[in-house]
Amino acid sequence: MGLTRCRVCRGVVSTRTELCPYCGTQEPAKPEWPNRRYFWTSLVVVFVAIVLAQLLVWGPAERDLDEADKQLEAVERELERARQTPEYEQLRRWAEDEP
Ligand SMILES: [Zn+2]
Repeated sequence: MGLTRCRVCRGVVSTRTELCPYCGTQEPAKPEWPNRRYFWTSLVVVFVAIVLAQLLVWGPAERDLDEADKQLEAVERELERARQTPEYEQLRRWAEDEP
């Protein structure tokens, strides 16, 4: 039989003792659940999953948005060029002459 630490008070206890002699906890050698290492491991796994989800789901959406922005800019440039043509000037005058 070995020695370990009580999961509650960290006092040195036998691995087979049923009651911690310091704090009275039952089965003090039994690891608490979830133990700290398990907790941090789960946290890291969840964090990595969120980052991956961002890359897989929101990444392409962001790229689509960029693409839409570029297309909008192209349309605005095209419109600006059209405004400088004589045809546009004619159309504008024709529209102003309408009652
Ligand atoms: Zn204890």
